[in-house]
Amino acid sequence: MFRADTHCHTTFSDGAFEPIALVEKALAAGLLGLSFTDHDDASAYVAAKERADQLGFALAPGVELSCLEEGQSVHILGYGFDVAEMGGVVADYKRQRNERNSQMLAKLASFGMPIELSELPSCGSLGRPQIALRMVEKGYVRSFREAFEEWIGDGRPAFAQVERSSVREGIAQIHSAGGLAVLAHPHLVRPEHLLRKLLTYDFDGIEGRYGDFTTDRFVAIGQEKGWLVTGGSDFHGVGKRKERLGSSWSDEETFRRLQEGIG
Ligand code: AMP
Ligand code: FE
Ligand code: FE
Ligand code: ZN
Repeated sequence: MFRADTHCHTTFSDGAFEPIALVEKALAAGLLGLSFTDHDDASAYVAAKERADQLGFALAPGVELSCLEEGQSVHILGYGFDVAEMGGVVADYKRQRNERNSQMLAKLASFGMPIELSELPSCGSLGRPQIALRMVEKGYVRSFREAFEEWIGDGRPAFAQVERSSVREGIAQIHSAGGLAVLAHPHLVRPEHLLRKLLTYDFDGIEGRYGDFTTDRFVAIGQEKGWLVTGGSDFHGVGKRKERLGSSWSDEETFRRLQEGIG
């Protein structure tokens, strides 16, 4: 049976595996397709496409945009867009990230936990997970989890937020690059009224299957709206959660539509 994991991260954002290594890992896990959905970066697809073609393995261009709505972080998955056009879109998101990283590093330094930008990996899309790992390496905290819970998690003392694109803007940017927009891990959206508002937006799909579970409510909402219902593991290969690549997946018809984008 065709199964494609349409939510995972590579070293181009906060994942532990290079794009080609992830393709090989996916094949070994019995998957036939993947979409890399790095935070605010869409270049892993380009890095792995040739190798995937050689292996007869399917890839769909993907990204996970970090938007802000009512002060809450909302993740939007984009698929099947023109990769070069998406490169232009994510340039702004990366600038927002860099500004926020600088603010968080300044706060950490003020709490006696200095980290230089040069100590962090030089990846396309740097964020809190890489900062958390460095905090562990430098002995500032005992674990990745503690870094978030005590310091850099939402609302914690060394957390910073900057102006970011709204969800409507994010969806429009994905559409104008020829892609489809999918609401990522809707079960994590709080509060409920924000979720209800998001569900009135112009999404093309919803991630009703995530990791080791399926949320019937979101599968039903997706079907009712005529949206695609996607599934992905959100595999990072590093960090506090123990995700398994392919734990959730998109079926063949859904994947083909994600690959095509708005066509
Ligand atoms: P950023 O994009 O820099 O805001 O970092 C967000 C990423 O950090 C998420 O996509 C997760 O991979 C990870 N993350 C967020 N909150 C937590 C948490 N409380 N514990 C562990 N990882 C987290
Ligand atoms: Fe992440
Ligand atoms: Fe996410
Ligand atoms: Zn993700």
